[in-house]
Amino acid sequence: MTHSDATWFHENFAATGSAVGFRVVRKLDEVQSPFQKIEIYETTDWGNLMLIDGAIMLTSRDNFLYHEMMSHPALFTHSNPKRVVIIGGGDCGTLREVLKHKEVEHVTQVDIDEQVTRMAEKYFPELCDCNADPRAELLFDDGIAYMQNAAPESLDLVIVDSTDPVGPAEGLFNQAFYQSCLNALRPGGILVQQSESPLAQIALIRAMRSAMKDAGFQSLRTISFPQPCYPTGWWSCTMARKHGELNVFRERGAASKAFTTRYYSLDTHRAAISLPPFVFEALEQKP
Ligand code: SAM
Repeated sequence: MTHSDATWFHENFAATGSAVGFRVVRKLDEVQSPFQKIEIYETTDWGNLMLIDGAIMLTSRDNFLYHEMMSHPALFTHSNPKRVVIIGGGDCGTLREVLKHKEVEHVTQVDIDEQVTRMAEKYFPELCDCNADPRAELLFDDGIAYMQNAAPESLDLVIVDSTDPVGPAEGLFNQAFYQSCLNALRPGGILVQQSESPLAQIALIRAMRSAMKDAGFQSLRTISFPQPCYPTGWWSCTMARKHGELNVFRERGAASKAFTTRYYSLDTHRAAISLPPFVFEALEQKP
C-alpha cells in the first residue's frame, strides 16, 4: 500500500511542547454545530478520526482503551449498579460498555450536542450498535443543568465523559457540579470523570480531586491507562465515592464477566488502581 497521497494531521499541545499525529487520507465530513466544529478524517492506519474544535476525540483503533476504562472499573467497584448517567459521551462508546452489564437497568446519556452522536452513527457505527437497547436513553441537553435537576439519591453511577475543561465542558470540572452529582447519587454511588494526562496535567487532576473532596465525596481514586490519541498517550480517570472504598472491587465478577473486553480485565483493573510512585506522591493518594 502506498501512502504517497496521504498528509498528516497533528494536534499540537502548547502546554507540553508535544503533539499527536495521524496520517490521513482525506476529510470525510465537517459540521459546525451551535456548540462546536466536528470533523471526521479517514486515516491510513487508525480507521476514522473525530476532532472537536481541532482536538482529537477518538479513533476507530484505540477508543476501546478509554471507553472500557471509563466504565468497567467503576461498574465493578459498585456492588449493584442499576441506574447510570453519562454526561457527554456523545460518540456512544461509553454507553456501549455500560450496557454490557446486565444488572444495569437504565442508562441516560446526556450530551449537549446531538451532532456528535449523528456523526458517530455514520462514522463509528460499531460504537452505536446498542443505542436501541430499551435500557438506553439518549438526551441532548446541557449536562450541568441535567445534574442540577436530577432527583436526590436516584443514581448509582455518574460517568463524565466530556471534552477538556474549556467551552461547554468548563462547568463540568468544578465544586458546584460535583455537589450536584453527590446529591443525585445514592449511598455507595460513584462519580467517575476523565481526568486528562497524569504525566502532563497533574495540577488539573489535583484541582479536580480537591473540588470533589470539598463537595463532600469521601474517597477518591485516580486510575491510569494508555490512550495513544490523547496528549502524552497516557490518560486517567478519577473516581469519587460518596461512602465506601474505591480500592476494592468485585474481583470475582471481573474475572468471570459474561462479556468480552479488549483491555479491561481483573489484572488491568488491579494495575490501573496501583498508581506509579511519582503520580501517587503528586496526588498524596492514601492506599
Ligand atoms: N473522550 C473524549 C476526550 O476525552 O477528549 C471525549 C469524547 S465525547 C465526544 C465528549 C463530549 O462531551 C462531546 O460530545 C461534547 O459535546 C460533550 N460535552 C461537552 N460539554 C458538555 C456539557 N456541558 N454537557 C453535556 N455534554 C457536553
